[in-house]
Amino acid sequence: MSPDRTAALIQQAERYGAHNYHPLPVVLSRGEGCFVWDVEGRRYFDMLSAYSAVNQGHCHPRIVGALTEQAARLALTSRAFHNDRMGGMLQKIAELTGFEKVLPMNTGAEAVETAIKAMRKWGYEVKGIPQDQAEIVVAEGNFHGRTTTIVGFSSDPGTYQGFGPKTPGFRSVPYGDAAALREALGPHTCGVLLEPIQGEAGVKIPPDDYLPAVRAACEEQKVLLCLDEIQTGLGRTGKLFAWEHVGARPDLIILGKALSGGLYPVSCVAANDEVLGVFTPGTHGSTYGGNPLAAAVACAALDVLIDEDLSARAAALGEVFVSELRRRLDTPQLLEVRGRGLMVAAEFRRPCAHELALELMKVGVLAKDTHDTTLRFAPPLVIREEQLREALDLIVPVLDRA
Ligand SMILES: *Cc1c(COP(=O)(O)O)cnc(C)c1O
Repeated sequence: MSPDRTAALIQQAERYGAHNYHPLPVVLSRGEGCFVWDVEGRRYFDMLSAYSAVNQGHCHPRIVGALTEQAARLALTSRAFHNDRMGGMLQKIAELTGFEKVLPMNTGAEAVETAIKAMRKWGYEVKGIPQDQAEIVVAEGNFHGRTTTIVGFSSDPGTYQGFGPKTPGFRSVPYGDAAALREALGPHTCGVLLEPIQGEAGVKIPPDDYLPAVRAACEEQKVLLCLDEIQTGLGRTGKLFAWEHVGARPDLIILGKALSGGLYPVSCVAANDEVLGVFTPGTHGSTYGGNPLAAAVACAALDVLIDEDLSARAAALGEVFVSELRRRLDTPQLLEVRGRGLMVAAEFRRPCAHELALELMKVGVLAKDTHDTTLRFAPPLVIREEQLREALDLIVPVLDRA
């Protein structure tokens, strides 16, 4: 296809679509493993993985097989009836997370909302917080999704401005500062909601003693610790869950994105009975949550993560990625390269990240800028070492022009 076709497709999307995104000017039509192809047949290394939804690689044959087979048999029943696939998914997630119960939803934001509701109800019924007084502590720089409640506790004006009034009951403290968080906890606090590494903020990795200190403070004050592992979970950081790096086991974990390997929106909250037991029939739900198609896809996506040992691959290749960028990059504009597993960021002194993303696109690498100065790199975890090195050979000369 021709450049005219690319321009026409972009124009069509912009003519009829609400302008709530600012995508790079590339139109993709095919994906396989760590690669995607545009409508003109050019191949790119995918260094975003749909914000870590595609950890298992594009169109993984095992997950595609599970999806097509299940789609032809039974896709949706609603929770008015049982289906023969949901239980298997719930058991698998419970066993992998080590929690007693799982509540399935669809998008990440819905699972975050589910966790907020669970923590509040636990606060009233178990902790004994007076009615409508429950408070949840969150961190500055957070990203937990786009619902009206969630954007209300964002610290990014672009995310919350114009969408008020904010839902009350949230208090924000600096990320990575355990003392500040401890100060914010009190008898009315039901939960703490954090990302173990802040993804959208630009791969912000807190000090290793942060989450353990938060864990301890939560126990002292009888507060639930909820970790949003929608982006960090399922192998991305080199462990199945990012909390395992520091041993701070949460009371609730939120999963999404790679839970479906990028084929279909599947999310969930996992926790013990004491927490998820607060939900009774009629108090929470979702028409599509736990549907058989989602369950078949999630089971296959989790099997791929385990059978292909993608966490270990992320750990090993993440070391290569970070150390090679640090060793080879030679520009005074580079402030820092940081990462855990295959969740990597390069931060620059000047706001050049968008220009660099456009230049990377021209050489066949798709990466996304965040907050003007930071470029994020998060390839599918199925990428092979020689492929990663090939990508590095494309990335390094472009970043050196920063
Ligand atoms: C992407 C993301 C969400 C929101 O997920 P959606 O599926 O887009 O609603 C929530 N939390 C984190 C940490 C995320 O990265």
